[in-house]
Amino acid sequence: ASKQRLLVVANRLPVSAVRHGEDSWQLEMSVGGLVTALLGVKEFDTRWIGWAGVNVPDEIGQKALAKALDEKRCIPVFLDEEVVHQYYNGYCNNILWPLFHYIGLPQEDRLATTRSFQSQFDAYKKANQLFADVVNEHYEEGDVVWCHDYHLMFLPKCLKERNSKMKVGWFLHTPFPSSEIHRMLPSRLELLRSVLAADLVGFHTYDYARHFVSACTRILGLEGTPEGVEDQGKLTRIAAFPVGIDSERFIKALELPEVQDHMKVLKQRFAGRKVMLGVDRLDMIKGIPQKILAFEKFLEENPNWRNKVVLLQIAVPTRTDVPEYQKLTSQVHEIVGRINGRFGSLTAVPIHHLDRSLDFHELCALYAVTDVALVTSLRDGMNLVSYEYVACQESKKGVLILSEFAGAAQSLGAGAILVNPWNVTEVAYSIGYALNMPADEREKRHHHNFKHVISHTAQEWAATFVSELNVTIVEAQLRT
Ligand code: UDP
Repeated sequence: ASKQRLLVVANRLPVSAVRHGEDSWQLEMSVGGLVTALLGVKEFDTRWIGWAGVNVPDEIGQKALAKALDEKRCIPVFLDEEVVHQYYNGYCNNILWPLFHYIGLPQEDRLATTRSFQSQFDAYKKANQLFADVVNEHYEEGDVVWCHDYHLMFLPKCLKERNSKMKVGWFLHTPFPSSEIHRMLPSRLELLRSVLAADLVGFHTYDYARHFVSACTRILGLEGTPEGVEDQGKLTRIAAFPVGIDSERFIKALELPEVQDHMKVLKQRFAGRKVMLGVDRLDMIKGIPQKILAFEKFLEENPNWRNKVVLLQIAVPTRTDVPEYQKLTSQVHEIVGRINGRFGSLTAVPIHHLDRSLDFHELCALYAVTDVALVTSLRDGMNLVSYEYVACQESKKGVLILSEFAGAAQSLGAGAILVNPWNVTEVAYSIGYALNMPADEREKRHHHNFKHVISHTAQEWAATFVSELNVTIVEAQLRT
């Protein structure tokens, strides 16, 4: 039999597109988590539908891009600049993202956002309808349609309205907040209702799933069951599907000569010192200032460690055109500068802070040679960095300090040292505990997490979600 077709719909296609002429495009596949997850699922014939991240106003350019993307099994959704501004920058990144991470809007934006809320939500719905149009155009009977993330909460409804037989799943990659937070959204009802149009709704953790169900019961007055949410006899399955990583890819990379070279350089550079590692996008949700302040407190209280430990913080720039993110950047720089001034010496500083991304090989080398990883997210859907660190630590057996507010705390909690990132005293203490941890305890903790990381891969996650979606639909047919 031929393979089942899987249409993966996400805001961004896994390619970056650069225009070289009127009808010529250069494409590069990006290897994010979702891509490797789905490339690994061989039992489906997968196609991607999404925005290419560029504005293409002319038809010649659109046709050429669509043709180039077709070779990568990608199908573009074209969004004009105004829609991108209102839907993507506005509703998605300025409203849903902070709300789902319990951050709230910056004070000075509040009134402006209150005023523009309706037009942003309208643009959001319009954009979701554009995604639906492209799905409908390419859909064939029997296809599975898997919608991703907070950008596309309206999509399940658009799809089902047109074709109630379509198999539709939706997965959220961020946390889903407490119903007390969700109920602040003026569009709270419509968003829940449209997600419920899907056959299967997935989250990273049971907590997020529970929050979603309780939002449906308290805000929509629907009945929550252990299986999901029921509305007039129609059941929407709700479940947790914790994502993983392609652990093989990391483990294998450690053998590559270029990674080994990076490792050698790093080891020499930091010889005689313990190295703590932070790898985050420079986003409010990552708790970078909190992490650095905890490290300062540790240095303050442990003078004997001052020239024996260094914190290497990779802060990948993100949304750099947004004032709130620019403010965070300068805040972090200021704290780092102060601490380096305070505890640095002529030959060494305690914090190495980089405002840039690393390539895959550099990143693997860093993961492998460092002694402690420090993840202090204030909220984080999952946090794959913690998984990647564990995957690369088979020989060193370093310690993972992990925020209890990251989804990964549910799966790596047994091996990691869990901390509340708001509690600087606790994090500072954990840094000392990690640096002094005896080898046998490190080994035990690492082993625990390593077993989990290699046995719960991204490929498995994707395969489980899609097969659960198929099962859900068969069960629904049996019920009627
Ligand atoms: N990453 C990267 N280059 C870097 C630093 C990080 O590609 O210089 C990757 C990292 O390998 C990980 C992802 O970015 O897969 C971050 O994922 P995570 O879930 O930790 O956080 P997110 O950025 O999605 O909030």
